[in-house]
Amino acid sequence: MSDDAFDVIVIGGGPGGSCAATMLARAGRRVLLLEREVFPRFHIGESLLPYNHAIFEELGLLPALRHAGFPTKRGAQFHLGDGSKGTAFVFRNGRFTRHPEAFQVERSRFDEILLRHAAASGAEVREGFSVRRAANDAEGVEVEGTARDGAAATFRARFLVDATGRDNLTGNRDGVREMNPKLRKLAVFAHFSGVRLDPGGPAGDTVIVRLENKWFWLIPVGDDKVSVGVVMDRDEFAAAKSTPAAVFERWRDAALPVKARLADARRLTEYHVTSDWSYSNRSFHGPRLVRVGDAAGFIDPIFSSGVFLAMHSARIAARAILDALARRTDGSEAFRRYETRMRAAFGIYSEMVGEFYTTPFMELFLEPRNKWDLASAVNAVLAGELEGGWRLRWRMRLFFLLVRLQARRPFMPRIAFAPVP
Ligand SMILES: Cc1cc2nc3c(=O)[nH]c(=O)nc-3n(C[C@H](O)[C@H](O)[C@H](O)COP(=O)(O)OP(=O)(O)OC[C@H]3O[C@@H](n4cnc5c(N)ncnc54)[C@H](O)[C@@H]3O)c2cc1C
Repeated sequence: MSDDAFDVIVIGGGPGGSCAATMLARAGRRVLLLEREVFPRFHIGESLLPYNHAIFEELGLLPALRHAGFPTKRGAQFHLGDGSKGTAFVFRNGRFTRHPEAFQVERSRFDEILLRHAAASGAEVREGFSVRRAANDAEGVEVEGTARDGAAATFRARFLVDATGRDNLTGNRDGVREMNPKLRKLAVFAHFSGVRLDPGGPAGDTVIVRLENKWFWLIPVGDDKVSVGVVMDRDEFAAAKSTPAAVFERWRDAALPVKARLADARRLTEYHVTSDWSYSNRSFHGPRLVRVGDAAGFIDPIFSSGVFLAMHSARIAARAILDALARRTDGSEAFRRYETRMRAAFGIYSEMVGEFYTTPFMELFLEPRNKWDLASAVNAVLAGELEGGWRLRWRMRLFFLLVRLQARRPFMPRIAFAPVP
């Protein structure tokens, strides 16, 4: 393949795609971003991590995001469904946490700001363009698709960024997606008004309420607008043979902190149902191709890591491509380094998620003791600290060791999940 009109084609205009396109365009590269939808469009994934701020700053996005008036998240609360126990992680209080606050966002507005910023930074953005075929080999990249009016088009470039989210365009094409059989989840969610939030700063917190094998999120996303969802096993939802509303309401009533907060609430949207099945692609790159964000792998959203990891991976991938363009290489070396770094980052949250569904983890997590600064280490990871080095790594290893010890010889009070009628 030759005659490249573009240095890079980015498929997908979510946070991962917009971030990669912005970085590449700001470095003076010719970038084409192809997005199937016309923005603003609905998307789930509304609670961000504090370390996203460093990326926003690097992209020149902070002023626009501050101006948009998104609620401030200063921490995350975790409660048991019977209301007997709960804890709050306040990012500011973590000894190793370098960024104290995050945004809670309505994704339709947030993603549009990011996409428009990519265009303003010099990327050519085509919305309403659905990519049907992407081909990449050692020589270059060719992408074909269709615009809203039915017009077909083909584009060529030297590199391809797959940022297609859970559509996983090239991962599916190459048959490299591996589903995590232990996390076959599904989510039912809607937006509500009239939700009872805590007074003051904690009003912006993400609230997580844990039942035995499922959990709720409450995320304030705007003026009197709160996103509320339940994540549960896909098979359990199917076996219930009920409507999404009936399933949601049944578990809402079993999750007392959710029930209390929704006592006067009014639903603003229909109930959405989406698969929430964790997976990872066996490879995050191919010839002249890098996969970023959910197109590399998807992790259960309990710790709100998705948007941050999408943008973090896009940032590293963009640097790898810039390096390859500057050196006139095919990028394979730089892409291998990218994959190693991103697997480590995904690994941190995957391990946390896997443990979250166990009871011993909750027994420790809900009673954080800061001996040896262990709670500070967890706080930093929850905020998005990926570069904390050894001082964070040994503390997290010790924390997980203690979880295993708790399973065998409990040294913290045990919790029992109340049976649901
Ligand atoms: C139930 C649930 C709750 C979540 N909660 C959170 C949360 O609180 N916080 C958080 O950080 N994350 C959360 N996430 C995860 C978050 O949604 C994702 O990790 C994040 O959106 C990934 O960004 P991305 O850019 O990789 O992909 P996306 O945001 O999915 O963007 C991909 C884009 O690619 C476009 N596209 C796809 N295929 C094509 C094609 N063939 N041609 C052209 N365009 C295409 C799509 O239209 C889309 O706009 C949640 C996910 C789920 C399922």
